[in-house]
Amino acid sequence: MDCIFCKIANGEIPSSKVYEDDKILAFNDLNPVAPYHILVIPKKHYASILDVPAEEMGIIADIHNAINTIAKEKGFDKTGFRIINNCGEDGGQEVKHIHYHVLAGKKLPNYEA
Ligand code: 5GP
Ligand code: ZN
Repeated sequence: MDCIFCKIANGEIPSSKVYEDDKILAFNDLNPVAPYHILVIPKKHYASILDVPAEEMGIIADIHNAINTIAKEKGFDKTGFRIINNCGEDGGQEVKHIHYHVLAGKKLPNYEA
């Protein structure tokens, strides 16, 4: 499958890794919009949260657990952060492999709806 985040997950494309376990990988976004801009992905391919079967939703908890660990490691658990999941066309999802953006390191602006 021609998926850029699968290629990052299997090491075919290099990335600046922040966290890894058997199911989850986190790496720095190529075009950061904040001092910390980390992408957290499941190693298994799902196009979006809409493609996760109910019995596999534990992967979303695994993503949040990884974010919890990363926030404490980097120290932005103390200052706060934002988690974003863009889903589908109107959500602005460009890469069709679930990813959660974690933004931190500055006071983030209110976002527009
Ligand atoms: P989306 O708009 O799909 O929610 O976000 C995709 C994100 O992936 C963007 O913030 C973009 O900068 C990032 N991105 C796209 N290709 C690569 C890549 O090859 N490496 C890394 N580290 N980030 C990427
Ligand atoms: Zn993929």
